[in-house]
Amino acid sequence: MSKILNDLIESLKCLPGVGPKSATRMAYYLLQRDPDGAKNLANSILNSFKHLGKCKSCNNFCETTVCDLCSDNGRDNSVLCIIEMPTDLLMFEQTHSYNGLYYILMGRLSPLDGIGPKELAMNSLYERCKDENIKEVIIATNFTKEGDATSTFITELIKDLGKKISRIARGMPSGSEIEYTDTGTLAQAISERKNIN
Ligand code: ZN
Repeated sequence: MSKILNDLIESLKCLPGVGPKSATRMAYYLLQRDPDGAKNLANSILNSFKHLGKCKSCNNFCETTVCDLCSDNGRDNSVLCIIEMPTDLLMFEQTHSYNGLYYILMGRLSPLDGIGPKELAMNSLYERCKDENIKEVIIATNFTKEGDATSTFITELIKDLGKKISRIARGMPSGSEIEYTDTGTLAQAISERKNIN
């Protein structure tokens, strides 16, 4: 096999859930059936790495120092909702029931996978929570074992800041992930959040 083709297949294996077989199929598909799509994909990936950075305030990907949501004066900057992933932010925004700010952890504590407080930049989270405008911190990590452990860790970490700390309500089934919850249930979870400190 051509080395270039082999490199393409190896590169595609970095995608989640893609093994050698699917990577090979994808490579042939891109080359044979959709060369334009393949070029667009390559350009978009390069462009993303060239121009996207992390928002200084919420950690989300954006092209500016602070993202549009964080710099929106119409948002309530006294509430900060801590979530695991950018996809969770999209879900909360779809509920139209939350108008505060967010902080994205970009993961969850998972010691077995080598993800500890340092990997999740918990010190940046602490600094963000220190902001004197923030009166309430809502912890909206998933209701999984790791999500709950992350919630407990954050509660301990920031309790000395004297802010109100709440956890979204358990209207969601145990073990459930925000990304796969319907907007109605999620809207209820945030409006019925429980104070935990
Ligand atoms: Zn932001």
